[in-house]
Amino acid sequence: MSSAVAMEATRRRQRLSSNGGASEMTEDPAGQWGRAWEVDWFSLSAVILLLCTAPFLVFFFVMVCDQYQCSVSQPLVELYSGEATLGSIWDKAPSFTWAAAQIYTVWVSFQVVLYMCVPDITHKFLPGYAGGVQDGARTPAGLINKYEINGLQSWLITHALWYANAQYFHWFSPTIIFDNWIPLLWCTNILGYAVSTFAFVKAYLFPTNAEDCKFTGNVFYNYMMGIEFNPRIGKWFDFKLFFNGRPGIVAWTLINLSYAAKQQELYGYVTNSMILVNVLQAIYVLDFFWNEAWYLKTIDICHDHFGWYLGWGDCVWLPFLYTLQGLYLVYNPVQLSTAHAAAVLLLGLVGYYVFRSTNHQKDLFRRTEGKCSIWGKKPTFIECAYRSGDGGLHHSKLMTSGFWGVARHLNYTGDLMGSLAYCAACGFGHIHPYFYIVYMTILLVHRCVRDEHRCSSKYGKDWKRYTDAVPYRLLPGIF
Ligand code: NDP
Repeated sequence: MSSAVAMEATRRRQRLSSNGGASEMTEDPAGQWGRAWEVDWFSLSAVILLLCTAPFLVFFFVMVCDQYQCSVSQPLVELYSGEATLGSIWDKAPSFTWAAAQIYTVWVSFQVVLYMCVPDITHKFLPGYAGGVQDGARTPAGLINKYEINGLQSWLITHALWYANAQYFHWFSPTIIFDNWIPLLWCTNILGYAVSTFAFVKAYLFPTNAEDCKFTGNVFYNYMMGIEFNPRIGKWFDFKLFFNGRPGIVAWTLINLSYAAKQQELYGYVTNSMILVNVLQAIYVLDFFWNEAWYLKTIDICHDHFGWYLGWGDCVWLPFLYTLQGLYLVYNPVQLSTAHAAAVLLLGLVGYYVFRSTNHQKDLFRRTEGKCSIWGKKPTFIECAYRSGDGGLHHSKLMTSGFWGVARHLNYTGDLMGSLAYCAACGFGHIHPYFYIVYMTILLVHRCVRDEHRCSSKYGKDWKRYTDAVPYRLLPGIF
């Protein structure tokens, strides 16, 4: 398909909206509830700021560990006093290496092979696990895509090989990731930019589904927030599912293991803080893969278009900034008191419980169309209607009981509690590991606002009825 087809789809949507094709239930026209069609100056400024600063921010947080023992203020003080210059900091940082490029190429290729060539068998023997071919959510144009869910299997195979290497084969050192960390940053950036640029060009030249493309007319916004909704190569290589889950999230636990191995190598022991970070984040990662089919119904897959935000974010931001705590602990091996460790563990586990139970309640409720039991009772809900871009009328339900009756996004609250626990595991010596909780708070509050704006456009008056019934977003009585 050509860009002309994509443009025609855009024009058709514009006609639909100007014809007032929306249902009586929605205030906005049909299919207008996905990512924005028009970009305001505030969003555009934020997009350009992020495009210009995010790669340097990632470099900064990794570099300060390499050169300043993870002190965030020291390089700034040195720059201010003239003791260091941007050039001298840059010169001291390790550069691109072909060894790192080889490691990264093998890594990404291996994940592509696992994703594309090894159909899931784990769902055949793991009770309760939903793997294999699964349906995604309805797209704004009214399509339902199919996905091969085999992330848990890929994670298990990758980690089994990692373990076998560390214990028996010794093909490479378990500290290999840490030892090549900044050169790997170069490689991930190359892939992140390449994939985002490819997706951008592909959207004009050969989009997978032109009806689900969105062009705002602003090149920066289109590049960052994406044009295509579900870009694919062939029938099964889905960019969103692969890049979001595989090179980044499978790597997350391996990166942490590499940090633990480095602590062992440097100090002869692994601290309880490192064990806590490894365990709590492994629970989160395993939860993600165990629930990969559920993940098809989350905002990343159902609503976000694939651009730099997801492409570069998955390749660079996620593996480097979600693992800052382990990196910090390599340079600052904090041994926590028993009380501190117990408090961190409790906060992490309670956060995980709230996060998982809230997500589970919505999933169960939606799967059974409300015919289930939530906290021992039949759930209460608000009936809603909306239209997709093809003009089709659909019905949905918004639950008003269980965790979804306490606040509109308690799953985010649980996520934030878990995030705080990872940071608190690093003690209070530096602010470096706390960047994560600041970032997650901004991400999830912004996501909350973005999601509610979309839901309000999608459901109109019905969304207002829901927010009247459940007035708070993250913290009952406060926000
Ligand atoms: P949600 O799972 O909360 O999904 C929001 C959608 O759920 C809404 O758009 C709406 O979709 C539907 N919905 C909203 N209210 C109700 C209700 N009362 N009853 C039924 N359905 C409702 O959001 P996300 O997809 O953002 O997050 C999923 C999880 O992933 C969260 O736990 C979050 O913390 C986590 N996450 C983690 C990130 C990380 O980087 N670690 C990043 C992003 C998310 P519909 O149009 O179908 O009605």
